[in-house]
Amino acid sequence: MAFSFEKLYSMGHEEVIFLSDPSCGLKAIIAIHDTTLGPALGGTRMWPYANEEEALEDVLRLSKGMTYKAAVSGLNLGGGKAVIIGDPKIDKSEALFRSYGRYIESLNGRYITAEDVNITVEDIEHTYTETSFAVGVAKIHGGSGNPAPYTALGVFRGMEASCTKVFGDRSLRGKTVALQGVGSVGFELAKILDRSGANIIFTDIGERNIERMKEEIPQAKFVGANDIFDVDCDIYAPCALGASINDETIGRLKCKIVNGAANNQLKEDRHGQELKDRGILYAPDYLINAGGLMNVSIEFEGWNDSKSRRMIDTIYDTTLKIFSISDEENIPVNKAADTLAERRIRSIRKISKSYLGNVGHRFPGRKNRHAQ
Ligand code: NAD
Repeated sequence: MAFSFEKLYSMGHEEVIFLSDPSCGLKAIIAIHDTTLGPALGGTRMWPYANEEEALEDVLRLSKGMTYKAAVSGLNLGGGKAVIIGDPKIDKSEALFRSYGRYIESLNGRYITAEDVNITVEDIEHTYTETSFAVGVAKIHGGSGNPAPYTALGVFRGMEASCTKVFGDRSLRGKTVALQGVGSVGFELAKILDRSGANIIFTDIGERNIERMKEEIPQAKFVGANDIFDVDCDIYAPCALGASINDETIGRLKCKIVNGAANNQLKEDRHGQELKDRGILYAPDYLINAGGLMNVSIEFEGWNDSKSRRMIDTIYDTTLKIFSISDEENIPVNKAADTLAERRIRSIRKISKSYLGNVGHRFPGRKNRHAQ
């Protein structure tokens, strides 16, 4: 996809910034999608993109997704994302991430970064040396540490809401959950499910993660990667890659609920309608996996575990609200989630028309957007 303003207009982006520093090999793109609700927060991804077009397409798509995720989660944040073009095994250096941090600092808080694919806490720490607009920093610097347990908690709250809707009872006790992927989030989710009395059937393709599950939760049943779609279960929980609900798998599912951590679980939007037609309840992926985002979002106010958990608990009610919109408007759940996000942004955009002057700093390290 070549760059065009028509594309930005149609997707709704406010700003796209290309960063170039040949001294350290930095080639990056920051996309700020929508800052109606607050500064754009979204992780940085490092990937050996085949070309600039591919990188641009990725960052535009991902940044728009962050706007919806923050909006539906009730956060006062906008959507943004960044991609660094390069091979994470070869091209990483302190200089690259510090140079990147200086560019972020120059945006004066319009974009706040964090970890995404192939970016570690150490990389963010280098970035943080040059800018305060970075979260997901080390705990020693007031950061929130590993997001996976918090993401898993949010997915679990979504599951409780799904069970309330389908079975009239939020408890997972005695329910069978088919878990696809027991990596960082999937394993944390398995631990919560096990403590809650659920039966777990799981799969993975990584030997180490399979072994870890067998050691820590021996009562969980292992099946092959391709068999997970066929097992009898109450809930199918995709916690590996996206697009696991597709033409090939959808007819095989024997569950009543799809509820997992993976991003973009529906290969195409129409699969949301198809799940509805098949009587399978789909929990909105970008809401129920927002626990990690909620967790980093409070770093500016001073992170603490119980505050983070209380915030993540709201996923239960919001998920139920989205199910209600889906029922009332007879639209699939994925559309209902978009509707809730868009309504919130539209209504807040309306109240932000008048000039406020400098009303001070709501968060340390973050300048008020209205300050001139
Ligand atoms: P991860 O890489 O730690 O775990 C993914 C696991 O899936 C790995 O164990 C991998 O071996 C397994 N896997 C890959 N392909 C598979 C297949 N075909 N069948 C079975 N298993 C397979 O990643 P993660 O951080 O646990 O994230 C899992 C998903 O949740 C991703 O889609 C991610 O985008 C999403 N997510 C993660 C977070 C977070 O806090 N880490 C937040 C939001 C969303």
